[in-house]
Amino acid sequence: TQAAAPAPAKRLGLAGVRHIVAIASGKGGVGKSTVAANVAVALATRLGLSVGLVDADIHGPSLPTLMSLEGEPLATPDGLMVPPENYNVKMISMGLFTEDDAPIIWRGPMATKALDKLMLGTDWGRLDVLVIDMPPGTGDTQITLGQRMPLSGAVIVSTPQDIALLDARRGAQMFRRVRVPLLGLVDNMSHHSCPACGHVEPIFGQGGVQRVAEEMGLEVLGQVPLDSAVRKHSDEGVPVVVAAPESKSAAAYFQIAGRV
Ligand code: ADP
Repeated sequence: TQAAAPAPAKRLGLAGVRHIVAIASGKGGVGKSTVAANVAVALATRLGLSVGLVDADIHGPSLPTLMSLEGEPLATPDGLMVPPENYNVKMISMGLFTEDDAPIIWRGPMATKALDKLMLGTDWGRLDVLVIDMPPGTGDTQITLGQRMPLSGAVIVSTPQDIALLDARRGAQMFRRVRVPLLGLVDNMSHHSCPACGHVEPIFGQGGVQRVAEEMGLEVLGQVPLDSAVRKHSDEGVPVVVAAPESKSAAAYFQIAGRV
């Protein structure tokens, strides 16, 4: 008799993954990728979980820089990509396949296909958590991803600025519509403490993320200060939870990781 046909390769990629958590934002530039990288590394290094990270922000992949990973991944004999690993996190990104400055221009269906390939075409092995750095916004790609992938939950990152909050609300509503549980909000760049005099300044406004959370019946998972160390270490490819684990910013990311 013939052996049973093997499961299609595209199913294999996610078969050993227990939880998939999406890190999303309504608006670009609010710190979503930085949260995704730091939370993924915190889950691995502080909580000892096996963790993967998908850069689904396919039009502007920044995780290869944040995670200090480059070069095209190797392939398994059955054609799955082997994700490179750093800081105990396995990561895959379109950015591994392109030149640094080449624009990635895809229409909706192509973007969806590329995301399928990243998620399902990767040999994740056994993972406790796969963290997805979502594309910003609430378009087709985000909705399709929310509907097609078995997401355990989503985290929405926002700054306290009105325009970001408006978009964060939209993001939260989108996940509700596709029935993905919302784990909570991250209040990023919530305030700045002057390193010279200690003065605390709410640069992007105060209390906005908390207000939206209350309005929508959600939790604020953590408040990350506007901190030049976060930016500097990110640019250098060492997440702040590794570079300065004792800092207030790292403490905020550890707290968020403990609550997702
Ligand atoms: P997004 O993924 O939402 O587009 P990024 O994570 O790429 O945003 O962050 C945008 C920029 O802001 C990056 O230069 C990043 O280093 C910086 N950044 C993010 N969070 C903070 C923070 N808490 N303090 C200082 N800079 C930050």
